[in-house]
Amino acid sequence: METKVLNTNNLPFCKGCGHHGISQNTAKAIENMGLNILDVIFVTDIGCHGIIDKSLNAHTVHGLHGRSVALGAGVSMGLPENKKVIVFIGDGGATIGLQHILEAARLNVNLTVIIHNNFLYGMTGGQLSGLTPKGFNTVITPNGSPFGEHDICELVYTAGANYVSRVIGIGDFSETIQKALETPGFSLIEVMEICPSYGVKFNPKRKLQEIVEAANKPIKTWTNNRAPFSFPERKTVNNLFDKTPVIEKLNVEKNLTKQIQVVLSGSAGEGVQLAATILCKAAVKHGYNITQKGTYPVTVGVGFSVAEINISPNEIYFHGLSNPEYMIITSQDGYEYSKKTIQTLNKDALLFIDQSLPTPDTNAHIITMDFRGKGAKNAVLSALFSFAKKTNIISTETLKSILSEMNMLEKFPLAEIEKELA
Ligand code: SF4
Repeated sequence: METKVLNTNNLPFCKGCGHHGISQNTAKAIENMGLNILDVIFVTDIGCHGIIDKSLNAHTVHGLHGRSVALGAGVSMGLPENKKVIVFIGDGGATIGLQHILEAARLNVNLTVIIHNNFLYGMTGGQLSGLTPKGFNTVITPNGSPFGEHDICELVYTAGANYVSRVIGIGDFSETIQKALETPGFSLIEVMEICPSYGVKFNPKRKLQEIVEAANKPIKTWTNNRAPFSFPERKTVNNLFDKTPVIEKLNVEKNLTKQIQVVLSGSAGEGVQLAATILCKAAVKHGYNITQKGTYPVTVGVGFSVAEINISPNEIYFHGLSNPEYMIITSQDGYEYSKKTIQTLNKDALLFIDQSLPTPDTNAHIITMDFRGKGAKNAVLSALFSFAKKTNIISTETLKSILSEMNMLEKFPLAEIEKELA
């Protein structure tokens, strides 16, 4: 088993960067605890601290800027208690993800956060963060930051963290890290350090200790004694598939030998998705596999409503549609939305379109009928009967039986439709 935390003495930071000390002290704490390195998960994010990943023998997860605490909390919640999750984050990231830190502290999630606080965004050239002390010079505040900074230790302590400590990141502070790692629940160490490349450059006459004192940030430890996060007892739920009614298959020949794509395109509120479900149920009754996907605007009941359906005698591995063989267009909204797809249909495709709509520019074979004349809410269903009659992929009898099962026959103008199709 690998016992060393770091796989190199040549860490990837600038000469003199405080991040060296944080990595080495964290490694020392883990090694002193005798932890199996494979029981340790480091979560880092964007910023100079995050380039440590490749130098670690432990598991690493690298996240978006400021999100490492949220990621780490998720990792921790999914693991047994004997695993150690350590989150590295910069002062910039801690500002971006401040709410994540406070929530993890409030919930007392079992993880240790080590903030690399060098008072600026090092990776992007030295901009100020929410932890930059008032008066500290940065690339965009050359005469000193005019803003007061967060006291991250006080914030997380007040939020309920079990162990919080602020240290000066010089020399050996591995014991503090070890205490944090040994404390059940949320722990955070704010390591005060300086970025030689930008912090020193913009504040040439200042020493780290003096900057911390001037910022009135005491070097101390805060503790709470709260129970660490654990999931509340969960109700066990039955497998949802057990609740899904079984669709009895008909004893009929399958007319399809290959997968087909069908698009139903109409207006929101006119039963497009319901008609799609009815078509899918009918296809399943005929022994086919199906996928159904609905697309409509966020605003309910307004604009287009489109259903994309795959029907196949074989298993379907991809639910997307590329070049449908069949399209049903029942309203202006649907026509406008699907205009480009209609134009790209090939000559073997069948397009069912309501007679109120313009004749589209397409190579497909067009069938024009008065679907909307049966009432806007019946237009797509009515077109499905034409689709069934014309294609024989499903039968009109199957559609009828599904409408009957769903108690929809009474209000549906079936006689009129059958007369038209006879
Ligand atoms: S830019 Fe600053 S924070 Fe980044 S590695 Fe170099 S010294 Fe460290």
